[in-house]
Amino acid sequence: TRALVCHRAFVRAYATSPSPHALIFLEHRAGAIESASLSALTAAEQLGGQVTGLVVGSPEEVQVRFECFVRLKGLTSLFHSSSSQYAAPMAEIISPLLEKLLTDKSPFTHLVSAHSSAAKSLLPRVAAKLDIPAVSDVISIVHDLSSNSTTFTRPIYAGNAIATIKASSSVPIKVFTVRSTAFSAAESDADAKVEVKSLDPIDVSDPPSEHIRTSLTQSDRPELGAASRVVSGGRALKNAETFESTLYPLADALGAAVGASRAAVDAGYADNSLQVGQTGKVVAPELYMALGISGAIQHLAGMKDSKLIVAVNKDPDAPIFQVADVGLVGDLFEIVPQLVEKLKQ
Ligand code: FAD
Repeated sequence: TRALVCHRAFVRAYATSPSPHALIFLEHRAGAIESASLSALTAAEQLGGQVTGLVVGSPEEVQVRFECFVRLKGLTSLFHSSSSQYAAPMAEIISPLLEKLLTDKSPFTHLVSAHSSAAKSLLPRVAAKLDIPAVSDVISIVHDLSSNSTTFTRPIYAGNAIATIKASSSVPIKVFTVRSTAFSAAESDADAKVEVKSLDPIDVSDPPSEHIRTSLTQSDRPELGAASRVVSGGRALKNAETFESTLYPLADALGAAVGASRAAVDAGYADNSLQVGQTGKVVAPELYMALGISGAIQHLAGMKDSKLIVAVNKDPDAPIFQVADVGLVGDLFEIVPQLVEKLKQ
């Protein structure tokens, strides 16, 4: 009798809970999938159901590029839509398409994306339009099929505490963005069988805002958010010239991306796009070198999950040494050139 009761309870629970089906907004740049989208795909896969990708762009971009999205491990189907209006990922322009996909007899239970600049604007907009909550910057996900609820964790207070948030069955579509450093990147799969469907774009007449231009910093170095090694400099670097002449040889010798503290960015030593921290980029490379950076909590929020942290600081009590795996107490202007020489050897 007990077995029968358990069986009935099991059947009832699973009969009422839809199996998860995530819609993931996939981003691309210069012909390649953004690595943060690959991490979001891994997160979506962890829900344990189907995953449908959505790629939008200008007609030239989508025709040429959606091929690379077809061979992604974990993707069950792929929607693509092209319009000259989709050339820039503007929330006001793309959200009507997402709203339609999520309302017309929608099979989707989750809307997912990387915690990127575009998605930080797009997903909350879609959620607000559909009157559902959104969870941002998640670092773990567990979906419970029996209760149709999804539990997320996300860092709060500059990473000093972790909040656990449960989206219950009363939330028809769970919307969330993913911190890319918390999930490995989905891999390519040459044998992947992904169903591809073209969607008609929804052109927005008289859009409330207009994309004028995108100005990207050009660099031959690895991209900060995706690099496996990062060399960062702080206020101690003195000015833009010494920042470049001291840090860049070390970054080049290591094949590393360059980062900076906010103090270095605010003082004009480095470009805004290089800022690491709470209000900059969050990175978790294999190697993070902090040179002349004190280790304020706002900076740590952006790098403390790095696998190996090396700090150079002349103050033995600098807080950066509390998170560093390797600490060198000394003058960076003496230490860094010696390191470069050793690396060259
Ligand atoms: P400092 O704190 O001035 O440290 C310089 C360090 O260099 C010192 O430890 C000193 O001992 C050392 N030093 C000096 N000379 C040498 C030398 N010759 N050799 C070796 N070491 C030397 N900061 C960020 O970095 N990223 C953020 O995203 C960010 N967001 C913020 C958000 C908010 C809301 C607020 C309030 C602050 C934020 N900050 C952020 C600022 C943060 O609080 C710190 O002010 C900043 O990180 C300090 O930068 P720094 O370590 O380069 O400079």
